Amino acid sequence: MKFVNKTGVANLPNWRWLGALAALALGGCGGAGSTGVVNAFSIPQPCLQKSGSNTVVVGSGLPGDPAIPEPQSGYRSGIQPVSAGTFMVVTANPLATQAGCSVLASGGTAVDAAVAVQAVLGLVEPQSSGLGGGAFMLHYNANTKVVQSYDGRETAPAAATEDYLRYVSAADKTNPLPNLGQSFLSTKASGRSIGTPGALRMLELAHQDNGSQPWAGLFQPGIKLATDGFAISGRMASAISGARDDLLRDPEAAAYFLNNDYTPKALGSTIKNPAYAATLGTIAQGGANAFYTGPIAQSIVDKIKVTTGGVTSTVAITPGLTELSDLANYKAVRRTPVCGTYRNTWVCGMGPPSSGGIAVGQTLGILENFDLAAAAPTLINAEGGKPSVLAVHLVSEAERLAYADRNKYVADSDFVALPGNGVASMLDKNYLKSRASLISSTRSLGTAEAGVFSNAVVLGSSATEGKGTTHMSIVDKFGNVVVMTTTIESGMGSFHFTRGFLLNNQLTDFSFAPSDTSGPIANRVAPLKRPRSSMAPTIVFNKAADGSRGDFLMATGSPGGASIIQFVVKTLVSAIDWKLNAQQATSMVNFGAANSPTTGVGGEHPSIDVSNSGLNDPLLNGLRSLGHTVSFAAQSSGVSTIIKTQPAGQSAPVFVGGADPRREGLALGDTLP
Ligand code: GLU
Repeated sequence: MKFVNKTGVANLPNWRWLGALAALALGGCGGAGSTGVVNAFSIPQPCLQKSGSNTVVVGSGLPGDPAIPEPQSGYRSGIQPVSAGTFMVVTANPLATQAGCSVLASGGTAVDAAVAVQAVLGLVEPQSSGLGGGAFMLHYNANTKVVQSYDGRETAPAAATEDYLRYVSAADKTNPLPNLGQSFLSTKASGRSIGTPGALRMLELAHQDNGSQPWAGLFQPGIKLATDGFAISGRMASAISGARDDLLRDPEAAAYFLNNDYTPKALGSTIKNPAYAATLGTIAQGGANAFYTGPIAQSIVDKIKVTTGGVTSTVAITPGLTELSDLANYKAVRRTPVCGTYRNTWVCGMGPPSSGGIAVGQTLGILENFDLAAAAPTLINAEGGKPSVLAVHLVSEAERLAYADRNKYVADSDFVALPGNGVASMLDKNYLKSRASLISSTRSLGTAEAGVFSNAVVLGSSATEGKGTTHMSIVDKFGNVVVMTTTIESGMGSFHFTRGFLLNNQLTDFSFAPSDTSGPIANRVAPLKRPRSSMAPTIVFNKAADGSRGDFLMATGSPGGASIIQFVVKTLVSAIDWKLNAQQATSMVNFGAANSPTTGVGGEHPSIDVSNSGLNDPLLNGLRSLGHTVSFAAQSSGVSTIIKTQPAGQSAPVFVGGADPRREGLALGDTLP
């Protein structure tokens, strides 16, 4: 079939034609979700990045290529939303986005793209995620309308005890080594922090369920980049230099990340990772079994068991107790997602062992009792806008109440049951209404108490979690959606490196102490248990006329440790209550609170005035007058958002993508100019 559009260009493949139609549909149209400047007569092309009036291939190294490294900055102003006709991928790294987009452009599914994205992220953003880590994924099947969640969380080894993280042994009650001053840091850098990796098993399971392209081919972009080399990005360079001393304890890590004189490899220098290419090649051919058994599994176990380390000097390292059987027996799990209504939407998230879905759902359920639309931001612009004092107060109070429940009740529910009737009780609208009634309009709660449930056992409380991690949001041309947050826990994980990838320190997400004065802690260590997470990959749907879950509306998620919950809530409220587009909602000032008197307002954002110790900013002052202890420290979210947007008066919806200006991310698809 031959199509001719207004530029006279013929023979557009089908997707291009659809995209061209959507571009025409967007032309001249304003309003939320379509703020990008649209040239109605340009031809959309897949996976190309706009650069001035031209387009450029991501990774080509040509001017305008977003993969050309730049120094890490706290915030990149002026990012425009990206629109696409039928498919889109947003990740925290341009090369990973490019790999995912190529898979989508060739007809792959969202899960196919996720496999390719993860393989590349493990190379180009190794500080955040990879084969040595864990992940959670939500998948929406546009055909069956089923939302499925996948749990690829790391597990504690079978030999772990409840004191695994804090004591070397029952007889030796000293902290694991190396001795880095604080027990958290020491344990993180020891073998004790390393959980049995889960990301790859999870991707395999999701691919078996929802993949369409052959597994092996999905690793080719990663293999090629690892073989040919890539330029070290700003964030990766900064992660290497920040972790230099820790990487020096592992000769393999030092050989990869450092120069011969042990200086950190620099921004923009080309780095090749043949060991990683070989690992990916083995997995491509042999499937996840080739990782969980055989020589790669042996290398992982050997690395976890190292007892000394150091290139320039040698220190003792406490080994982990992981065995080959831990790897061979690891299972990714299909779990029921946590879904609930919020105003005119349904919001689905990840249940235990993540606290993300429940905490986001509780926060929204509490906020539903307030008119947030009436507390909209002012000075709306490309970066979102300036949140109102009332909105930040209400959202952070709702979060305090949600974190109080999370810290006390939520852990791996295969080991410790949730209170009441589980998720249903914790998200019950009447319960959340009673929690909302605890919020005062004139005074912050400071620290909230956990709610009371009928059959809850007496529990202590824990709040730990680090900072690292990365999030991808993907929609394929069939309408399937993937949101996946993937992590090696904190930056550079445990600093243990083998076969081209880093091993996680995810077990430090457990409580180090098994109990406190109130009782046992739900998130204490146990053999084969999964540490509680805050990761919150989230899919939002419109509410259908009969109240049931309707069409896909939005995909989002973020890294950020326990703050993930706040980053995701901020993005959801910005889109749902304030009707901001995907980029504005993603860029919007980060604000919120865990369960303490401190309310964070991200000072890296251009609309926050941090001069004079923050005393010139009316938002910060307004919060102080309500009793909040205000922190305006920079916040390092990494939100990746896609919103299905219906341009006014047009028949074809488009996908609008937003990448977090605080990281290096990029949205691509069958992109509309
Ligand atoms: N390990 C954390 C979690 O699972 C994530 C860490 C991060 O986002 O930096 O919740």
